[in-house]
Amino acid sequence: MMKKKLAVFELTDCGGCALNILFLYERLFDVLEFYEIEEFHMASSLGDGGEHFDVALVTGTVSSHRDLALLKEARNRSDYLIALGTCATHGCLQASVELPLKEKLKAVYGDESNPMRALDPKPVVEYVAVDLAIPGCPYDKGELFQALMDIAKGIEPVRPDYPVCIECKLNEYECVLVKKGLPCLGPITLGGCNAACIRSGLGCIGCRGPLPGEVNPAGEFEVLKELGYGEEYIVRKFKTFARWEP
Ligand code: SF4
Ligand code: SF4
Ligand code: SF4
Repeated sequence: MMKKKLAVFELTDCGGCALNILFLYERLFDVLEFYEIEEFHMASSLGDGGEHFDVALVTGTVSSHRDLALLKEARNRSDYLIALGTCATHGCLQASVELPLKEKLKAVYGDESNPMRALDPKPVVEYVAVDLAIPGCPYDKGELFQALMDIAKGIEPVRPDYPVCIECKLNEYECVLVKKGLPCLGPITLGGCNAACIRSGLGCIGCRGPLPGEVNPAGEFEVLKELGYGEEYIVRKFKTFARWEP
């Protein structure tokens, strides 16, 4: 069997989503049964692995012209591109600050000059078409593993289309919104993480981004207001991971 060629491209981010691939541990060997990893800077000092990839994983936001060039290269050289992690799918924390780039540069560096040719951080999906988006900060490793296995077998990966609340109920976790008044965004957040934060007694902070389709953020807004949270706090919470989402 010919192995598929896999590449990992890292744009600007915290490195967590690339590292999370290595945290597949023994399942990484299962991945290697089907894939040859041709490019993965975090894991190998070897250079450019080839001209063409069957699958490319791209992490991070486009935050500089260097990122943009790398993303276009990844898209042009791969058949199937996966935006991996919330930086790539929604912009995540680094894209959450709603200030013009010049003001951000001035706040951090003291002047507006831009020698590193920074861009206002945007998710990968704002620049190129992606074949699959796997959100999460970081994403669920099981979801990536399953997607890679499916693609290797010629199956289109299943995409979750339900809110975090569904997995929370299936696990029979106590509702922290109702019982503790915590500002849980589970009702409007895309599931797929198996309600990881609620398992620890925390509210969902929306790291997988908004559930597309029939969600009701206005209803969630009202519920949180009734619990005593301020409007500005709620709006900022909604936008933390997904400012680029309509
Ligand atoms: S999505 Fe989160 S964990 Fe992944 S690279 Fe971005 S900030 Fe890091
Ligand atoms: S704790 Fe959060 S995710 Fe779970 S049911 Fe309540 S609102 Fe939904
Ligand atoms: S519960 Fe919410 S914040 Fe926690 S991992 Fe899942 S989507 Fe992210």
